[in-house]
Amino acid sequence: MEKNDKEILNLVQALKFLGTTKPTLYRWLKSGKLKGVKAGQQWRFYKEGLMEFLHSKEKEKTKFEVQLESLVDKFTSRLKEQGFSKEETTEIINKAVVVRPGNKNTKKIKNNTKSEPGKPDAARILNYIVMEGLSSRASDIHMEIFENKTRLRYRIDGVLKEVEPPSKELYQLIIGKFKELAGLDLLNKTAPQSGRFEMNFGGRRFVVKVNILPTFYGEAATLIPINADAVLLKLDQIDFSPENYNIVRELLNSPNGLIVFAGPAGSGKTTTMYAAINSFDSAKNKIFTIENPVEYAFYGLSQIQVDQSKGFTYSKALKAVMKNDPDVVMLNEITDKETAGEIMETVLTGHLVLTQLSEGDASAALVRLAKSFGLEANQISSGLAGIIGQRLVRKVCQKCKEKYTPEDRVFKYFGKEPGNSREEFFKGKGCEECGGTGFRGRTTVHDIILMNAKLKEAVESNIPAKDLRRIAMQESHCLMKEDGWQKALLGKTTLEEVMKMTKDI
Ligand SMILES: [Zn+2]
Repeated sequence: MEKNDKEILNLVQALKFLGTTKPTLYRWLKSGKLKGVKAGQQWRFYKEGLMEFLHSKEKEKTKFEVQLESLVDKFTSRLKEQGFSKEETTEIINKAVVVRPGNKNTKKIKNNTKSEPGKPDAARILNYIVMEGLSSRASDIHMEIFENKTRLRYRIDGVLKEVEPPSKELYQLIIGKFKELAGLDLLNKTAPQSGRFEMNFGGRRFVVKVNILPTFYGEAATLIPINADAVLLKLDQIDFSPENYNIVRELLNSPNGLIVFAGPAGSGKTTTMYAAINSFDSAKNKIFTIENPVEYAFYGLSQIQVDQSKGFTYSKALKAVMKNDPDVVMLNEITDKETAGEIMETVLTGHLVLTQLSEGDASAALVRLAKSFGLEANQISSGLAGIIGQRLVRKVCQKCKEKYTPEDRVFKYFGKEPGNSREEFFKGKGCEECGGTGFRGRTTVHDIILMNAKLKEAVESNIPAKDLRRIAMQESHCLMKEDGWQKALLGKTTLEEVMKMTKDI
């Protein structure tokens, strides 16, 4: 040991040596991470101890911080591959991206947030985290904190992908920044909070929903970026099979009746419901939507926002709409018996109503409708027009797809005989484009129920839920499994993927 290392420093010298401030140093002392000796009222520090401390501090830096610059570089080159110009790329990385914070008192992310070496800039990192998510087509971004580490994950095509997380210290700064942007209460760290802000990415507008959840070791965050310009798809962009597409078109042509869009959370049923709304001619039809909240404003629609806290419920909104001579009404959800009753009344007075239920498939939604909302059997049998069930399956990467033969058990699942030589199946081998997963993007599988005499009779005879479900599946136009089989034959997805996504049905 060098003699020099045994040197004793006073507080001022120690602050200088560590390059920190008094409050931070006291925090380190209090936590026991840094050791000092109190001589009377004065703190004394061994230089050796301070050096060790600095060394351990350096080790605390996660790979994320050490690699941040190279992560940003990789991200930059990917943006270039995606066709962004050099100027656009620089702008995305370095400039203000938040165009509308959740709260008008919130400041925009500052321009020119170039980070200094060694000094991570929360705003720039936040930019990076969200932009990385947008450019890799993540549907949601998850940030979690534990005793000694943090976690950062992106859900891409339905599968969580873990990446290098920021350190705990930086994590907290970033969460604070997200809360600030979303207009949330910064001081409240014990209640769940939700907000949103808007961002620009490559000329497109994104709304980023921010959900904060207090967990044992700190606040976790889920960020959900929504492309505000891509929400209103056309019906033919939903990837219905040609047969299903015609059935849906016909269903939407009904002069009146209830049409339900069913699927588990994250199945894209809302997108499909909006595409259905988009198929009506808003010049010839008076279209109302009742939403909570109104996510995007669309030209030609009268959108009404429910406010439960003020007592303006779905059912009250629907009553108000009925006084305004609607042709088509869309409700985000059926929340309670009262709303359900109101919907059936609307339908039976000659209107078309579109809504959605978070059920696994169309037949489960029929059971839910018949059994959970206190509706009369004849209200359903005469009011319900049809149910469109939907789930998402991953699409085979077109860059690396190749022919393969599924195992016999897979054919068995679909009730098919293996070895039909005319049938060809494809899967992705895994390439750079798809991150080695063999999948890129997602497509839909559907099942559709149209109310027919047999189903009406089943509903009216008040049979048990499981019997109703069985009959509904028998009467379904095309089960999701079958639709998935057809889509696998077209090389859009794999049989294994359809099997995985439908096995609970
Ligand atoms: Zn690939």
